[in-house]
Amino acid sequence: MQSRYSRQIILQNIGEEGQEKLLNSSVAIVGCGALGTVAANNLARAGVGKILIIDRDFVELNNLQRQMLFDENDVGAPKAVAAAEKIASINSDIEVHPIIKDINYTNIEEILNGVDLVIDGTDNIQTRMLINDVCVKNKIPWIYTGAIGTSGMSMNILPDKACIRCLYPGIPKAGSLPTCDTMGVLNTITVIMGSIETTEAIKILLGFYDNIESTNSNLLVYDTWNHSFDSIMVKKNEKCECCGKENYEFIDSDEQEIITSLCGRNAIQITPADPKELSLKSIGEKLEKLGTVKCSDFIMLFKNDETEISLFRDGRAIIKGTDDEIMARTIYARYIGT
Ligand SMILES: [Zn+2]
Repeated sequence: MQSRYSRQIILQNIGEEGQEKLLNSSVAIVGCGALGTVAANNLARAGVGKILIIDRDFVELNNLQRQMLFDENDVGAPKAVAAAEKIASINSDIEVHPIIKDINYTNIEEILNGVDLVIDGTDNIQTRMLINDVCVKNKIPWIYTGAIGTSGMSMNILPDKACIRCLYPGIPKAGSLPTCDTMGVLNTITVIMGSIETTEAIKILLGFYDNIESTNSNLLVYDTWNHSFDSIMVKKNEKCECCGKENYEFIDSDEQEIITSLCGRNAIQITPADPKELSLKSIGEKLEKLGTVKCSDFIMLFKNDETEISLFRDGRAIIKGTDDEIMARTIYARYIGT
């Protein structure tokens, strides 16, 4: 065994056998923001053998306050790629796979296929419902975690135990919940919650919860400003749409194109129904007459008086400067095509 992990191997809770288990484990991190970067950093240093980092966005200056793997040189780069590069320089013995995609019902089952555990690094309830459907259906453990303001919560969702829809049976409307963009967030709470999430991930991968008989779970709620720490029991609901009735309505959706309002950012994201690989370079060359274009292998940024577009290789685009879906769709059609 390599000396890299010696301080972890002498821990009673892990040992040589536990370290070997971690090295043979695979974890998907969905969303590489504040929580995702903390989890990725911890898991990579702990020697989890294979890590998938899935994120649709690119690094912005206001992310550096709390997204611990990024620095000023990463601004403008896709988060998944910037994080994977940083991790490769921390631990080159493990496999890291960056995936620049908006995770949605058309691709989530394929992306999460075969992983041992899923870490929640998302910032919205809709994506969490999708993760919940896939993980409950395929018996993959996942860890729900969120942080906002000075507080956070976390709950392990283990096969055959209570799921997130036992906790939230109704589906909150998009934009109805506060976000870090509208309410703000302290960087210590995201580090704490990301670390709680990673600890739980390690415990699950080592089989710590394998013989627990209760079908209930606990939701941890922590406020770092007040030092309040609560553990609330979530009972498994036999009538739960997801884990009770096995009705996976989020992944069985039959919507076509996906248009998402990026809350608090005055931006709309458009994901084509049928993603295909685009040549960003040739689209950028066409747009050069209409405004300024910056193009890399992963992303093309276009800007003029009317709009600002970030276009990814799979055809997904973030249209800035509007909250209007129809306007965003029109801009997409005008500059990128239908
Ligand atoms: Zn449930």
